[in-house]
Amino acid sequence: MMVKNVASIIVKKFLVRGYNVNPKAVEMLQMVENLDEVVDEICRNAAGRFIITENDVEAALKSLNNKKIVIPNLEKKKEIEEIKILKDVTGNSLTEGKLEDFQLYFNSRYEKISRILRSRVSSVPIASLGRFKGENVTVVGMVNSIKETPRGYYIELEDPTGFINCIASGKLAEIAQTLLGDEVIAVSGTLKDRNIIADRIIFPDVPVNGNRKIVKDFFIVFISDTHFGSKEFLEDDWNKFVSWLNCETKGSEIAEMVKYVIVAGDIVDGVGIYPGQENDLKIVNIYEQYEVAAKHFDEIRKDIKIIMSPGNHDAVRQAEPQPALPKEIRKLFSNNVVHVGNPCYISLDGVKVLIYHGRSLDDVVSKIPKLNYESPHFAMEELLKRRHLSPMYGGRSPIAPEKEDYLVIEDIPDVIHCGHVHTYGAGFYRGVLLVNSSTWQNQTEFQRKMNLNPMPCNVAVYKPGGDLYRIKFYGGSNEICGS
Ligand code: FE
Ligand code: ZN
Repeated sequence: MMVKNVASIIVKKFLVRGYNVNPKAVEMLQMVENLDEVVDEICRNAAGRFIITENDVEAALKSLNNKKIVIPNLEKKKEIEEIKILKDVTGNSLTEGKLEDFQLYFNSRYEKISRILRSRVSSVPIASLGRFKGENVTVVGMVNSIKETPRGYYIELEDPTGFINCIASGKLAEIAQTLLGDEVIAVSGTLKDRNIIADRIIFPDVPVNGNRKIVKDFFIVFISDTHFGSKEFLEDDWNKFVSWLNCETKGSEIAEMVKYVIVAGDIVDGVGIYPGQENDLKIVNIYEQYEVAAKHFDEIRKDIKIIMSPGNHDAVRQAEPQPALPKEIRKLFSNNVVHVGNPCYISLDGVKVLIYHGRSLDDVVSKIPKLNYESPHFAMEELLKRRHLSPMYGGRSPIAPEKEDYLVIEDIPDVIHCGHVHTYGAGFYRGVLLVNSSTWQNQTEFQRKMNLNPMPCNVAVYKPGGDLYRIKFYGGSNEICGS
């Protein structure tokens, strides 16, 4: 109603001067603060013509060169350029969970990762190995099974043409021990009696110095696992974090330069996630949990863009890849929140960030002996080496058999951001920043029983190509540390 009135006022303003005005021009003029001044300027330049178009409006705005005039259309275009979603299952899920879907899913995984490996090694299809008896060969295959025997580890590899056993002993046994199953690797060795006596196990990995260096003059803040609705949600510490972001406390020289906040899942605590969860909940209704979450995020200054991805406690399907939060929940959040799926590969002004909640980290940590929850970024390193976010099928991380495997790390990102394990860790691996951004939930009764020790309220703050800080908001003042 209001808008229509403004539009008719604009049309009248031109009519009394003897001009008609087209709808696009009217639309633009509705956004202008000093309307009379602009209308005067347009009419001054339009002598002899009868229809005012958007070009006339633009020309008048330019000549007035008035910085107070905001044209939201142009602003919007700029915004789209800043945040680009490069890969996300949201709106693209095609699986029906049928057996054939699993076949297609694993084909896609093999295709994508074997392509990376084949660009580095020259391999032979398993069905053609017969011609190479006694020779040195390389095969690229998906790990089917790993068996420990007195002769070493038997690794059964599969490619679209067949199966082969690779025997890994001595030093290679150590690497064989860290295999998760279902990852795609290359094995080189001598072909003997229908087995390959392995001398090398090659992961798809990332090139040693291959990653580009991108330099920006803004900071990205990484958080996760806010768990709104939990009794253990650390509200005071969260409020301190928000005050810092809003430049109201010390360290504001960094906060001023924050352009993006990424949230890697577990926005709320959810309901029915683990046995007895109801005892740990302050808010038992999941919708209300999101209402509280939205209210808290709304307190963050609005020039910061928030990218929000779900986790296993959120109100989306459990199997990965997970789509963005449903519409009725998204609408609770302010306009500066961009909702994406899990995982999501995103570009922020050209900085490529792979966001993944990190459920598979439980599998990786329990399977690889040298890993622990105190340094979760080392577990993330294992995912990057395998170029897959959830290499192990059938562990604690359910996978939805999409026709395309969204969990493959195809293009090497500048940053991989995970959460889920509720501990903090950040470091670079071959030029890629790996960050796990802890939690805003204190230890729950359930975690105490499971002997899980969270490190709450640690925030990673990164200026691409420059400084990486860890800021602790836990239990009092904010403490800025090095990485
Ligand atoms: Fe969590
Ligand atoms: Zn989680």
